[in-house]
Amino acid sequence: MAWPEAPRPAGVAAGDWRDWGWQMRHRIRSARDLEAFAEPSEDERRAIDALAERFRFVITPYYASLMDRTDPDCPIRRQVVPRSAELDDPHGVADPLDEVAHSPVKNVVRVYRDRIAFCVNNECALYCRYCLRKRMVGEPEWAMKQRELGAALDWIRATPEIRDVLLTGGDPLVFSDDKLGWLLGELRAIPHVEIVRLGTRLPVTLPFRVTDSLCRLLERYHPIWVNTHFNHPRELTAESAEACDLLTRAGIPVGNQSVLLRGVNDDVETMKALCEGLVRMRVRPYYCYQAQLLEGTEHFRVPIERGLEIFRALRGRTSGFAIPLYVLDTPHGKVPLAEPHLRGREGDHVVVEAWNGQLWRELNPTRSRG
Ligand code: SF4
Repeated sequence: MAWPEAPRPAGVAAGDWRDWGWQMRHRIRSARDLEAFAEPSEDERRAIDALAERFRFVITPYYASLMDRTDPDCPIRRQVVPRSAELDDPHGVADPLDEVAHSPVKNVVRVYRDRIAFCVNNECALYCRYCLRKRMVGEPEWAMKQRELGAALDWIRATPEIRDVLLTGGDPLVFSDDKLGWLLGELRAIPHVEIVRLGTRLPVTLPFRVTDSLCRLLERYHPIWVNTHFNHPRELTAESAEACDLLTRAGIPVGNQSVLLRGVNDDVETMKALCEGLVRMRVRPYYCYQAQLLEGTEHFRVPIERGLEIFRALRGRTSGFAIPLYVLDTPHGKVPLAEPHLRGREGDHVVVEAWNGQLWRELNPTRSRG
C-alpha cells in the first residue's frame, strides 16, 4: 500500500521542498506564516502572541502541510500550534523528571548506572507543545558550546560504567553532518561506549534530513540505533516512509516512542492505525509514554486508566510486536504501566513502583480540566 505524499504548496519547487536546509530556513514563526497552511482560530492567534516569550513556536513547512486547513482540533495542529489552554495549568512543572538534579555535567542526564541521555543540542526542527524538555529546547542558555560538549565527553571518558549513550536534545539530527560525524567519532573512540542511540523526530517533522550522505555517515559508527517519535497515522507519509527506509537499509534499527495525547491519539482506532502503519514501515512501536505533568500541558493529559483501556483493547487485535509498552517516566526511571509495577490509585494519584523499588505517586486525576 502506497503512503500519501505530503501536499507541496503551489509555487514551491520540488528541489526546494525536498531540501532540508530550505525547510529550516522557511519555517513558520507567526500566525501570519501559518496562514499559508491553515486558518488560525482566534484562540490560536491569541495563544501564539501570549506564549511568544514562554515556549518557541516554529513549524517546518513539511509538517504544516499535513495540517487540516480549517479544523483547529486537527491532531497535527494540536501538537504544534499553541492554544490558550497552555496558559492554564495549575499542576504542571518545568522539570517533572528532575533532570537538572540528575545532571553530573551540563546536559548529561544520568538516571541509571550504565546509560545517559546526552542533550547535545537545544534546537529542533519544530517545537512540540507537550515537549518534556520545553524548559530547555529553543532556549539559548541550554545550547552546548564546543567546550561544554568537550566537558561532557570528558565526563563520559572518565565514567567507565557508561555503555549506552542516547544523543538527544533537542534533536541531534539538526546538527550538520560534519558536526554529527565529529561527535560520533569522539564517542566511538571511547572503549566503554558500546552503543549510541539517536533520539530524533526529524523522520516525522523533516524527513528530508535523512539523506544518503547522512546514512553513509551513521553507518561508519555502528552500532547506531534510532528512536523516532510518530504520534498519529496522518504523520505516516511517503516522505517519512522513505526516511525510515533509508535508515533501516543502513542497518539502523528504528523504534518509535509516541506520547499518549488527548485529542491526538487517545482512542483505540487511532493507536491501532498508528502502530500497524509503523510496522509496515519497519519501525518498531517501542514505548508509548504517559504525558508528563509538565507546565502548560494539562489539555494533553489523559487518565492512566484510559491509556490502560487502549492498550488492553489492542491485545489480541493486532500483532503483539505492534503494541508498544505503555510507560510512565519518573525521576526514578521508566515504569511500565502494567502489573506488577502499577500499584493502584490513591485519589487523584496513581502509585507505581520503579525498577529499584522506589514508589512514585503521579498526580493523574480521572477527570481532567480543559
Ligand atoms: S522534537 Fe522532541 S525534543 Fe523537540 S520539541 Fe518535539 S518532543 Fe521536544
